[in-house]
Amino acid sequence: MRTAAAKRQTGVRPSETPAGGCKTLRCAFCRGTGRDPYRVLSQVSDCPVCKGHKTVEVKTSVVACRYCKGTGRQRHTRLTCSGCGGVGVIPLPGATTGCPQCGGGGREPEADLPCSLCRGAGLVAKKTA
Ligand SMILES: [Zn+2]
Ligand SMILES: [Zn+2]
Ligand SMILES: [Zn+2]
Repeated sequence: MRTAAAKRQTGVRPSETPAGGCKTLRCAFCRGTGRDPYRVLSQVSDCPVCKGHKTVEVKTSVVACRYCKGTGRQRHTRLTCSGCGGVGVIPLPGATTGCPQCGGGGREPEADLPCSLCRGAGLVAKKTA
């Protein structure tokens, strides 16, 4: 049996974010413009992810969303990524280990959906015995 996900390394690597503290990240969905790139939700053109603030705050360590490759966008749609909610990163405090379900690819093995176990991070919190 071959596992394609484990074989192929994508360009996005989990960021080594120091634990603790608030961090402000540039909004991935609008690329820091504060505008809804597609204006699908309403006439108001504020980005639905950052609400026009151009940045998003994260409270814990985060890892890049593998499912959308950190873009915050759902593939083939104009919607925000259902894995990370459009932020491009997924909160994952503490020690992490590769997701056993998707093999680190962040994708459901049988469907084009974010992995239900890691939500697209490709990593899961390491269980401490
Ligand atoms: Zn935004
Ligand atoms: Zn995502
Ligand atoms: Zn997974």
